[in-house]
Amino acid sequence: MSSNTHFYNARQQRHNEREKIIYHNDYNGLCKLSSLIGSDPWQVQGAGGNTSIKTDGLMWIKASGTWLANANTSELFVPVELDPLLDALKADDQRAEKSTDFVRESLNPHSLRPSIETSVHAVLPQKVVVHIHCVDTIALAVQTQAEQLFEKVLKDFQWLWVPYHRPGLPLSRYISAHLEADTNVVVLGNHGLVVAADSVQEAADLLERVRAAVKQPDRSYPAFKSDALTALCNNTQYRPSNCVDTHAVAMDDIALTVAAGGSMYPDHVIFLGSGTQVVSPYVSIAEIVSQLESEPSSIVVPGSGVIMHKDANASQHAMARCLSDVCLRIDSQASVRYLNDDEEYQLLNWEAESYRQSIAT
Ligand SMILES: [Zn+2]
Repeated sequence: MSSNTHFYNARQQRHNEREKIIYHNDYNGLCKLSSLIGSDPWQVQGAGGNTSIKTDGLMWIKASGTWLANANTSELFVPVELDPLLDALKADDQRAEKSTDFVRESLNPHSLRPSIETSVHAVLPQKVVVHIHCVDTIALAVQTQAEQLFEKVLKDFQWLWVPYHRPGLPLSRYISAHLEADTNVVVLGNHGLVVAADSVQEAADLLERVRAAVKQPDRSYPAFKSDALTALCNNTQYRPSNCVDTHAVAMDDIALTVAAGGSMYPDHVIFLGSGTQVVSPYVSIAEIVSQLESEPSSIVVPGSGVIMHKDANASQHAMARCLSDVCLRIDSQASVRYLNDDEEYQLLNWEAESYRQSIAT
């Protein structure tokens, strides 16, 4: 047998084994749901959010840095051995952080790495877990009164409030310690939403009900000033954002004040950096940028709109829009809890996030 034939046979066998495991359960349904929520910027932005399904001792979890939106067209899910991972979590074994040691590599042909939120999915006992960065949830979850606000809207749900913890082990440890037997909705402070159920259909239904319950009104705002932005960008590395919704943060005074206060959730820090760069519409962008340590991927120009660095990637564009979507849903009375320096430092100096950032581009 030639080495090519041997290679082909081995690959075919692995493919068949993978198909056998994933097709007799809800795997296809999960791909469909993942692709739907991943295509909705109000639920998932760029490489954010993740979904999983537990079956035959394995948990299939979205790969780090991949986009849920592509779940129907590419293989995004990595099989992780569930019991060994849970044992590692119980034993405080640091290998649970990356979870790479628990991947069943024979079923992982593209050597994908499991999501940084794998341990959060593992500690929830339900078969299907969906985690999203829903903008309505975030708009409430970044407020200092978040827990009380959610108590009002989620009184009909078995839900758990989780104050901000760094994604990964710190977050899963807290959830695991506070989970009750019937908890199937988890609200993550300064972060997002998790729902869990025993089938994809139930998870989808629960997600829809929770999203309806947490829905926040958004404000309308004046159109951005295309000509003024274009003039500001002249002879710079910047261009006006080509997404109409991204400009809202510059056009709505309340949104602008909220955004200028700091970073509110992890993916903002990971993809756009610490805080938001707000500049006067009367200054030269080239001059402003020359005084900064590095060129920000997005800059907010109050009363005119948002400009993006010409090298900004799709995740950065998605997060710039997310900022507007979140800020438009926070009202003027709200007191916002921003991520502190230490929390930002932990995100920016975490190898798992650097990896995700590099893949997401
Ligand atoms: Zn998340």
